Amino acid sequence: MNKVLKFGGTSVGSAENMKKVASIIFEQGARFTVLSAMSGTTDALVAINNALAEGKGLLADKIEMLEEKYNNCINSLLDDKSEALERAEKCFALIRDLAASYSGVSTQKAIVAQGELLTSAIFSMYVRQCGKQVVLVDITEAMRTTESGKVDTAHLAEALKKVTAGYGDDVFFVTQGFICRDHNGELSNLGRGGSDYSAALIGAATGASEVQIWTDIDGMHNNDPRYVEGTYPIRRMSFTDAAELAYFGAKILHPSTIQPCKELDIPVKLKNTLEPHAEGTTITSHSDDSRKYLAVAAKDNITVVRICSANMLMAYGFLRRVFEVFEKYRTPIDMITTSQVAVSLTIDDDTHVKSIIEELSSFGNVSYQSGNSIICVVGDLAAEHPGLVSDILGSIDNIPVKMVSYGASNRSVALLIDSEYKIDALRSLNAKLFTTADKQ
Ligand code: ADP
Ligand code: ASP
Ligand code: MG
Repeated sequence: MNKVLKFGGTSVGSAENMKKVASIIFEQGARFTVLSAMSGTTDALVAINNALAEGKGLLADKIEMLEEKYNNCINSLLDDKSEALERAEKCFALIRDLAASYSGVSTQKAIVAQGELLTSAIFSMYVRQCGKQVVLVDITEAMRTTESGKVDTAHLAEALKKVTAGYGDDVFFVTQGFICRDHNGELSNLGRGGSDYSAALIGAATGASEVQIWTDIDGMHNNDPRYVEGTYPIRRMSFTDAAELAYFGAKILHPSTIQPCKELDIPVKLKNTLEPHAEGTTITSHSDDSRKYLAVAAKDNITVVRICSANMLMAYGFLRRVFEVFEKYRTPIDMITTSQVAVSLTIDDDTHVKSIIEELSSFGNVSYQSGNSIICVVGDLAAEHPGLVSDILGSIDNIPVKMVSYGASNRSVALLIDSEYKIDALRSLNAKLFTTADKQ
């Protein structure tokens, strides 16, 4: 077996939890163990970065809080503490040095990378203490992005082959999620929550038999448990449904995680570190699930762009010109609806929205509005089942719906609403579309 196991912030958030993680990797026979930073670390480092960017200097309380957290963990986890305490001291001295010579984004990326580097170093010392052979892999030597920002998967595969060459099957390779280097060789990262994606990439690069994402909940639930009571885990899902839900806001998975595994048909399991023997969710190419409604998720920070143009009437080539503007600004479109004289599109990256609007203005009247959420319903939603759309819209008939996208896929319906109605919408959909009979 050649499994890749990834553990999130809560899973490695204390000495006690790190011990649980170690017993899981021993039981599972993990080849690669990919770790996030201890819970709260990245948030604190991001807050430090923001303060530096605003010229407020180093947030001493945040750094002291982190120092205490890591030192406490080391003191309760390790018998021989000196190497780890020294490692932690160096790490925090480096953060202070980086802050003192702050030079913008590159400093920020170097600071935010320290959480994963320190957490993985401490955990690998614990694995060694347990009497196992362990290699701490610096993933920034293997995970790098190209100029276009994509991960260089060929380089990753080659580099990891070299790293593992000559080691027996009983060696545990421990490494960092989230972090990488950019095409200039500078420290960088795959975005918030990106450790899941790191694990999937490492799984694909090493031809893993399985990628396991270990977190603080028993698998992918049918709705967002942060806002809705009485959600339940879905035991089996297809790659397509899981990718759709992750993309549309199911936080348990970083949106890019599924693609590398889907390409190589590597099963992905979502498991709970705090309840290791709970079943979790298994994601494969086929789910053989026939439930009409499988799950709901919501994605925030959506901006809707509307273009009204009489030139669109009976014209061809109009949409192409509209899409070209989004392409020029490398801004992906999520939802689209059209009428004879208008088109509405949604984007979640509004970095270039002002320039986009300016260019689109030559086509007609253009407006945009932020503060929206997309609600995505996934299930067996083929047109052959009449009444689906009215079921879904009827479940939220007290909520103004701004856009509906149905028909592109047999497996999902997307609705655009103002974010202030998101929680109500998720709760109403839960109450009306899902029954306890849907639990497996
Ligand atoms: P980690 O730090 O392990 O990566 P995350 O916080 O990123 O964990 O993801 C796990 C969290 O995702 C859960 O605690 C849960 O609150 C949230 N979540 C949101 N939507 C879902 C869903 N549909 N199913 C399960 N968890 C979800
Ligand atoms: N530590 C990073 C974050 O909090 C990456 C991750 O946890 O996946 O975003
Ligand atoms: Mg996560």
